[in-house]
Amino acid sequence: MTTGIWVLGDQLWAGQSALASCQSAQRETPVILIESRDYARQHRYHRQKLVLIWSAMRHFAAALRADGWSVTYTIADDFGTPLHQWIQANKITEVRVMYPNNHPFRQIINNLQLGCPLHFVPNNHFLWRTEDFQQWATSRKRLLLEDFYRTGRREFKILMHQDQPIGGQWNFDSQNRQPPKGQLNPPSALWFEPDAITQAVIQEVQALDFPGYGALEPFRWGVTRASALAVLDHFVAHGLPSFGPLQDAMVTQEETMWHSLVSPYLNLGLLQPREVITAVETAYLNHNLALNSVEGFIRQVLGWREYMNGLYHYLKDDYGQSNWFHHTEPLPAFYWDSTQTNLNCLRQILSQVEKTGYAHHIQRLMVLSNFALIVGVSPQEIEGWFHAAFVDAYDWVMQTNVIGMGQFADGGILASKPYAASANYIKKMSDYCSHCYYNANDRTGEQACPFNFFYWDFLDRHQEKLKSIGRMNVLLGNLNRMDADDLDKMRVLAEAWRQQHRQQG
Ligand code: FAD
Ligand code: SF4
Repeated sequence: MTTGIWVLGDQLWAGQSALASCQSAQRETPVILIESRDYARQHRYHRQKLVLIWSAMRHFAAALRADGWSVTYTIADDFGTPLHQWIQANKITEVRVMYPNNHPFRQIINNLQLGCPLHFVPNNHFLWRTEDFQQWATSRKRLLLEDFYRTGRREFKILMHQDQPIGGQWNFDSQNRQPPKGQLNPPSALWFEPDAITQAVIQEVQALDFPGYGALEPFRWGVTRASALAVLDHFVAHGLPSFGPLQDAMVTQEETMWHSLVSPYLNLGLLQPREVITAVETAYLNHNLALNSVEGFIRQVLGWREYMNGLYHYLKDDYGQSNWFHHTEPLPAFYWDSTQTNLNCLRQILSQVEKTGYAHHIQRLMVLSNFALIVGVSPQEIEGWFHAAFVDAYDWVMQTNVIGMGQFADGGILASKPYAASANYIKKMSDYCSHCYYNANDRTGEQACPFNFFYWDFLDRHQEKLKSIGRMNVLLGNLNRMDADDLDKMRVLAEAWRQQHRQQG
């Protein structure tokens, strides 16, 4: 009997469960990694994401070989052909795969006729096992992040003193919403020069005949576990001490602020959530760092990331099709080309995403996603765009973040109210408005900021639905006190804008 292991492109960790299950027989265990061009053709991707994944896979294959595994690395159109050849050549009687974290990919694997049994090994890339999350979720009425996070802190004994949170409270978020003021000196991000393997992949992606998104070069992401660990170390030394206070701030030309940039590496398996949390907690204990920064960061990884993944597997398979507001507008064409918009906030962030495949959380949520929500864009269209545009995008993290958190398309399973905001928020939390053609204070008139008229139009169009959400009452009260003429003018502006962009789309 010969077991062969198929390592998927987002499972690049030597300790992943399928490899770990054959650790004692690694010289006799054939391992395969496959770059499928058909798979990459099915969706549009950021060109740097293709380079990141394929280069990281090639580096990982080399590391496995150096470790004694017998590795086959194949570039093919489909997955089936190289798998069959590998099974026959190695007389494999069972194919073992770590459970794919994305539903569509699991379906692809299930549809392959391999000619021998396929065995999924439980995925060990998250702290919470799927069945433990199911148990947690089924025992409660509301699936609140805060409850989940506290359970995680207790369960994994993170930032705890016996059964109490260190610092006497669970959450220091109120200290972490400062607007950017004066001269800021965020640390520079740690980037890398492409090595020979990465350069070869860049040339191959350049030659591909399918539509991509964004700039291929300069490509500066790390592609090995060593570079991912270096990014983590760099963040702990330079970003973490001040991560908290300006976590939500957005500043022109400051693409990464104090953020960690670890999501592409975590999502590929090059970093593990436990080691990221441990590194941050250890730095706190050794260097007496500010607790609002340390707790704020740990909540992202131990709280939000695990919660989003748990929900993805807990919710029904048709969650991705949710559309509570029945939004059907096409995505404005400028999402694909930042030069086509004169809304400065969108233009700045979109051009940054084209260049890097990265934006930080508030740029994603309160500008890119918020605008699509208040315009009334189809949630599936904006999700498709996010999937194409970001180097850290995968189905498990897109559905919950875009459909649930960003678009409120699930009617409130995940968020307690829609993340919809007018220009007020962007003006307060960024410097974008001071360099914009539009006036952030205007709701009507030639220079009225579209975030304003769309925001009030959104509340107006959906007020019946929004009444069922307690946290919307104050805002709906403001809407009802609004001058009727003003509201009419905003409706007209919103519809004219949509008409114009439908024609351009
Ligand atoms: P930091 O701000 O340094 O945070 C640290 C880590 O916390 C991140 O690396 C990430 O692993 C984790 N994290 C924080 N918030 C979330 C969250 N809501 N969901 C999952 N993990 C979280 N994250 C992705 O990994 N891939 C995506 O494609 C993605 N798309 C998003 C789309 C929208 C509309 C929104 C609102 C959020 C999205 N996020 C996504 C979550 C979050 O914005 C990114 O994880 C984060 O911005 C990555 O940058 P960072 O590593 O510098 O994060
Ligand atoms: Fe964005 Fe409006 Fe501010 Fe311009 S004025 S940057 S469009 S929020």
